[in-house]
Amino acid sequence: MNISESKRLFAHAQNFIPGGVNSPVRAFRAVGGEPIFIKRADGAYIFDEDDNRYIELINSWGPMIIGHNHTLIREAVIQAMENGTSFGAPTAREIEIAELIISMVPSVEKVRMVNSGTEATMSAIRVARGYTGRDKFIKMEGHYHGHGDSFLIAAGSGAITMGNPDSPGVTKGTAKDTLLAPYNSLEAIEELVEANKGEIAALILEPVPGNMGLALPKPGYLEGLREICTREGIVLIFDEVMTGFRLSPGGAQELFGVTPDMTTLGKIIGGGMPVGAYGGKKEIMEHVSPAGPVYQAGTLSGNPIAMAAGLAMLRHLNAQKSVYTKLNEISRKVSEGIQNINQVLGYNYSVNHLGSMYCLFFTDQPVYDFESAKKSDTALFGKYFQAMLKRGIYLAPSQFESLFLSTALKDELIDKILEAHRESMIEIHS
Ligand code: PMP
Repeated sequence: MNISESKRLFAHAQNFIPGGVNSPVRAFRAVGGEPIFIKRADGAYIFDEDDNRYIELINSWGPMIIGHNHTLIREAVIQAMENGTSFGAPTAREIEIAELIISMVPSVEKVRMVNSGTEATMSAIRVARGYTGRDKFIKMEGHYHGHGDSFLIAAGSGAITMGNPDSPGVTKGTAKDTLLAPYNSLEAIEELVEANKGEIAALILEPVPGNMGLALPKPGYLEGLREICTREGIVLIFDEVMTGFRLSPGGAQELFGVTPDMTTLGKIIGGGMPVGAYGGKKEIMEHVSPAGPVYQAGTLSGNPIAMAAGLAMLRHLNAQKSVYTKLNEISRKVSEGIQNINQVLGYNYSVNHLGSMYCLFFTDQPVYDFESAKKSDTALFGKYFQAMLKRGIYLAPSQFESLFLSTALKDELIDKILEAHRESMIEIHS
């Protein structure tokens, strides 16, 4: 495969951009080789600067749930553009999207739009602290909530991929208020709560974590967290930046029937534009400025183009519930296909799968938390990634990420993915 133009651009980019990229995992450091530079995307495909075509299994890290460059989104954006790109003043569309989010996501009674998942989680923690008058919060090891200071402690995603789960630049003062627990252990939460009685403002987690690969909640775990938080007056925050509008129209909270006090959203909510949101119980959200004293603002928040893209996406997902049946079917075929091939070839690697998210771990041990995820052979994953890329399949360039499937993945493409997988598994083990 000729990737000479990507190579040239990557070398050139080093002169102007740290590491040549605007988000670390894109640099392919964890998988070796050099990143491919993307020129355009359409449906299930992305095309690089050398005009190679790849079948997409990341979909911009989640947002493109109905495939790239979908007519619905493109037309909504073009139409909105006709009227100007930003006003910095309220618009009718912001009310429409707020109403729609509230009708779809069980925990959200009021919602504030921001520009990224990072902003959503940072703001949600601030509001929970303002609401409870407490400073500390609990975070799970290996979960990623964006790059806000207080979250870059035992962080997943790129932070672990780059070997910096605890980032330099985060002060000891900040870090001391972030309490860590392993995912899927209610005992660990009970211990933290006991040791910090009356001091914990919030417990934030990815209900179905996708930033240490993919792990699933054990039966009763989310319900248990709900009970503890209610008992202790702790604000339970589900970070559904990945899972929101993906695992079901109302996210993981709808799927598992557990309603948190607050929810953070991103990715799909912007239809591919930079959007995030946080929302929750009225009583809590009424603390947000100007309704209340907790300050949070944004020059481009509620941007008209971004809102048009998000609204088109959410309206579609809300009206076409069959999207989820279709997605689950696609995802079942991919994940079962991969497991069948592995079995035939004699490799007993763990595959975690829920809805349209899945992850193949290069370990034969079950993965249910950060420690078990770290047992994966990341060097072997790197080889697998390269073998798949060479065969035109674009995966997340790290073991510690989930894959996100889209409705654009037709049966013949699934067959191609599975054939590439079979060949790649043979190649990397020979
Ligand atoms: N929370 C979760 C669960 C995420 O997966 C991410 C990003 N992958 C974020 C927060 C941060 O979102 P953003 O990259 O838009 O700041």
